Amino acid sequence: MHNKYEVVIGMEIHAQLKTKTKMFCACAVSFGAQANTNVCPICMGLPGTLPTVNAQAIALAIRASLALNCQIRPKSTFARKHYFYPDLPKGYQITQYKEPLAYEGFIEINRAQIRIRRLHLEEDSGKSIHAGNESLVDFNRCGVPLIEIVTEPNITSPDQAVQYLHELRQILNYLEVSDCDMEKGHFRCEPNISLRPIGQKQFGVRTELKNLNSLRNVREGLEFEINRQTKLLNEGKAVQQETLYWDEQTKTSGTMRTKEESEDYRYFPEPDLPVMNITEKMINTIKSNLPLLPAQRKQQLIRQYQISPQIAEVIIETKEFADYYDATVKHCPNAKLVANWLTTEVRAVLNQQIISINDFKIKPQQLAQLLNLLSENKITGKNAKQIFEQMVTTNKSAQEIAKTQNLLSIEDDALLTNIAQEVIRENPDIVTKYRQGKTSVIGYLTGLVVKKSQGKLNPQKITRTLQQYLNT
Ligand code: ADP
Ligand code: MG
Ligand code: ZN
Repeated sequence: MHNKYEVVIGMEIHAQLKTKTKMFCACAVSFGAQANTNVCPICMGLPGTLPTVNAQAIALAIRASLALNCQIRPKSTFARKHYFYPDLPKGYQITQYKEPLAYEGFIEINRAQIRIRRLHLEEDSGKSIHAGNESLVDFNRCGVPLIEIVTEPNITSPDQAVQYLHELRQILNYLEVSDCDMEKGHFRCEPNISLRPIGQKQFGVRTELKNLNSLRNVREGLEFEINRQTKLLNEGKAVQQETLYWDEQTKTSGTMRTKEESEDYRYFPEPDLPVMNITEKMINTIKSNLPLLPAQRKQQLIRQYQISPQIAEVIIETKEFADYYDATVKHCPNAKLVANWLTTEVRAVLNQQIISINDFKIKPQQLAQLLNLLSENKITGKNAKQIFEQMVTTNKSAQEIAKTQNLLSIEDDALLTNIAQEVIRENPDIVTKYRQGKTSVIGYLTGLVVKKSQGKLNPQKITRTLQQYLNT
C-alpha cells in the first residue's frame, strides 16, 4: 500500500544519565523516592540561587558522544528554554541550543548509517501526576541530567527505527551512561515522520509522535502514522504538521498541538553558566577508558569461541549478561556449552523469575562447576538439568548435589559389560532389527542400559560398548 511513498523518520531521544546527583545542584538522583524529598532551592528555581555544572554528567555525555562517533565541541554553551508548566518551577529549562556538546555522529545498523545530528546536555523537568480531579506535582526529577540525541531524517522504516533505538540503548547500557529503562522514563523517544513520493528530493510535511514508552509502541505508532499519512496523500489531502499523542489502548494517535499552537521557547544564552571548555586531555582520558561495545563483543564471541551469530546476539543483549558469560568461561573452558546453557536454561530462569542476571542466584563459578561435570561426562545431560534446578532453589553446589543424590556417573566397566549383555539378551527382536540394518534402534538399547544403571553410566560410552557387541 505504501510503496508509492518513501518513509522518512528522524528521532529525538532523551536518556537519563546515571549520575549520583542532579545536573546543577547536589540533590540525589533517585527513582521511586517519596515525592518532593530530593529538592533544594537551586532545582526549585528560587531567586538568588546559582547552578553549578555536574562534572560526572559532562564525562558521561562525552563518553556517549565518543561511542556514537560524534565530533566534540571544545567550547559549548548552555541556553534557557522557556515555557510555563506546573512541573517546571524555574519557568525555563537549562539546555544547550546553538553550540551543543557534540555533533555529526553515527551508528551503523546492518551496514546502514543512522546519522546523528547532535548530542547535548540538559536538565529534566518535574513530573505531573493526574489523579481524578486532582493534579499533583513531584519535583524530585527536576534538574536530573539528560542527554538529548537527535538524528538526521535518514531512518527509512519503523523496523530500522526500532533497531536504532535497540542499538542505542544497548550502547548506553554498555557505557554505563544510562539505565535506559523505557518504562521508568529513563529513555524517551520522539520520532518525527513524513512521507514523500519516491524520487522526490524535498521532504514531506512531518508529524511528531509522543508518549511511546516501549519499542513495541514505537513500531505500532510509526506504522499507524505511515498508514494515516498514506491515506491522506492518496486522497489528495495535506498532512498537517503537528505533535501527536500515541494512545496504546486504542492504538491510534491524537493531536496534542498543531504548528500554529507550537510554542515559542524564546531561547537565550544562560547567563549564570560559563562556556563549557572540553580539553583534548579530557577527551583522551575518556577515550582510553571506553569499554568494548556490543558489536565488538559479538565479534569477539564469534571469533574467539566459534559461537554462532544468533547465540552471540543473545549473550551480548546486556553488558551484565555478556560479563556473566565471560566470567563463566574463565572457569569452564567448554565455551559452546556455556553459551548454550546461558541462552536456554539460565535465560528461562531469569524470564520465569523476572530478574536480571545480576540478581541470579547462581554465580558464574558455581555454574562453571556444574558445566565442567557435564563436559567431563561425570553427569548426564538429564542429571545436569536436575542438579541445576536444585541449585536455583537451594544454596548447594553442583558437586554436593551430585554426590549426595548419587548422580555422578561412574567409571565401572564391569557393570557396563554386565548390563549391556543383559539388555542384549533380553531384547532379541531389537537386536535382530539392528543386525538387519536398522541401526537407529541403538538409541533405544542405550536408553535401557541408562535406566538399569540408574543414570550412572555415561551414555556415549554405553552406545560404544553396545555397538561393539552388536557388530561382532
Ligand atoms: P524541531 O525544531 O521541531 O525539534 P528539528 O529540525 O530539530 O525540529 O528536527 C527534529 C527531528 O525531526 C530530527 O530528528 C529531524 O531529523 C527530524 N525531521 C526533520 N524534518 C523531518 C521530516 N520532514 N520528516 C521526518 N523527520 C524529520
Ligand atoms: Mg528539536
Ligand atoms: Zn536540588
